[in-house]
Amino acid sequence: MHQGREVDTVIVGAGFSGLYMLHRLRQLGVSAVVFEAGKSVGGTWFWNRYPGARVDIESQEYCYSFSPELDREWKWTERYAAQPELLKYLNHVADRFDLRKDIHLETRVTAAHYDEDARRWRVTTDKGETIVCRFCVMATGCLSVPKADAELPGSEAFKGDSWHTGRWPEGGVDFTGKTVAVIGTGSSAIQAIPIIAAQADHVTVFQRTPNFSVPAHNGPIDPAVVADWEKNRDAYRKEARDTGFGIRYVSMGEQAAHEATPAEQKAAYEERWKYGGFALLGAYNDLILDRDANSTAAKFVHEKIHEIVKDPAVAAKLSPKTYPIGAKRICVDTGYYATFNRDNVSLVDLTEEPIERVTANGVKTGAKEYPVDAIVYAIGFDAMTGALDKIDITGRAGAKLKDAWSAGPKTYLGLMVAGFPNLFLVTGPGSPSVLCNMAVAIEQHVDWISDCIAWMGERQARAIEATEAAQDEWVAHVNEVADTTIYPYANSWYLGANVPGKPRVFMPYIGGFPVYRDKCNEVAARGYEGCTVAA
Ligand SMILES: Cc1cc2nc3c(=O)[nH]c(=O)nc-3n(C[C@H](O)[C@H](O)[C@H](O)COP(=O)(O)OP(=O)(O)OC[C@H]3O[C@@H](n4cnc5c(N)ncnc54)[C@H](O)[C@@H]3O)c2cc1C
Repeated sequence: MHQGREVDTVIVGAGFSGLYMLHRLRQLGVSAVVFEAGKSVGGTWFWNRYPGARVDIESQEYCYSFSPELDREWKWTERYAAQPELLKYLNHVADRFDLRKDIHLETRVTAAHYDEDARRWRVTTDKGETIVCRFCVMATGCLSVPKADAELPGSEAFKGDSWHTGRWPEGGVDFTGKTVAVIGTGSSAIQAIPIIAAQADHVTVFQRTPNFSVPAHNGPIDPAVVADWEKNRDAYRKEARDTGFGIRYVSMGEQAAHEATPAEQKAAYEERWKYGGFALLGAYNDLILDRDANSTAAKFVHEKIHEIVKDPAVAAKLSPKTYPIGAKRICVDTGYYATFNRDNVSLVDLTEEPIERVTANGVKTGAKEYPVDAIVYAIGFDAMTGALDKIDITGRAGAKLKDAWSAGPKTYLGLMVAGFPNLFLVTGPGSPSVLCNMAVAIEQHVDWISDCIAWMGERQARAIEATEAAQDEWVAHVNEVADTTIYPYANSWYLGANVPGKPRVFMPYIGGFPVYRDKCNEVAARGYEGCTVAA
């Protein structure tokens, strides 16, 4: 590539979002290139190769919907696709739509500067190239920057092997004969622990905060389900997009929990536990709004944990008590709680004995040292803002995005930022994003951005930018809606609470996918209300 080469659009990231963005722009005749730091397309499903990594939404629902041909060709093998199958799918999409020729792999975008006079972005990569473009689309991922294990003092001194689940080695890891520490009990750990435990000599799980987990009941996909989807795909997708979370089988019950007797509640939860996945949270329409209603579902899961885990003291430690169920995305597992019945698995509760440091030989808590051969860091991500924070982004008058967001991210609809014309975010903070089926959230954003770019083209408009007033109003609305729910009661990564020093702002939009989509459509129909457009 030449220094200063010009295209219409630069897309950063070649995951689910970047691939579809490129395809849509090509269809519009808008030239685009993609820069991707990884050595393959796939994003999340390229980086997170830890054992047990799989999607928490049924495969039929967690995929693109833009191409009937793709739907016909692709056959999922499991009810919840595992990482290798998801990565294969995204590679298939890259080939099927001939996307690779415009994707530059192993190329990290380090800076994006807006030149106000030229109304162009100058995007710089770690290869020393600068490319000039009108539009810059950040498809950089909500969960693409793993938290550094350096947060745990002494990690550099450890003599054994260690890995972050979000940067798993390509050939996999053989844990046979090893003693292993797993630090963290979020979604990745909950998926990985049962598999590591089946291989290793011993696994010690270091838990700071327990998570609510429900069974996936995964298995080969039922041919009857596939046939049904083939017949009704369009209707089912529409149904999914009309639910708050963009997931068809989590449509909310008609009833509030307090309208049901305890026996009815138990039966409703039991039925959904048997179905598996997020279905549990849809049993009643007030579970995410009302703490008393919510506690009926939490109590049900606590009872399940005590039924499954034989040692009552371990069951009690595994039962989340400090936040409502659903206030952190519930985990969907295969045999997680039962794994704690194995002789080779032990649980360390870090609220009783916090980690002091990682040593040359293992992990030292306030109580003792746990010598291990290997450490798995399942400590999560610098969510939603982490990837953008790593790029030096400057907008009008050289204003830095980092400074604009120093008190927490501010966006208009999670799609645009005041002061940063022609910059678009896919599933940015202030949009449903991580509270949603991300496949649904991503397609809606990419379609909206593409339509906006096409609209600009038709009018030969050169720059579009959210106004401060529209942005402030949206940010206030995002917070207002969050405050009517149970979500702010958890110290979660939705709030940035997992990263020391990160401002605490509820980042995703919890008003529900259909409400959000309709608002975005209205904004577009009114000529991008809340934005200034320069000719
Ligand atoms: C372990 C894990 C499990 C998940 N499970 C689910 C699930 O079950 N259901 C669900 O709905 N969602 C899930 N998610 C969320 C998931 O991230 C989304 O579903 C989806 O894959 C996001 O796609 P994306 O393209 O927006 O971002 P990503 O897939 O994260 O892709 C972003 C890409 O941008 C690249 N990038 C970032 N910064 C730069 C830069 N400066 N220069 C160049 N490249 C850059 C990254 O390398 C990455 O490849 C999960 C996330 C994780 C981490």
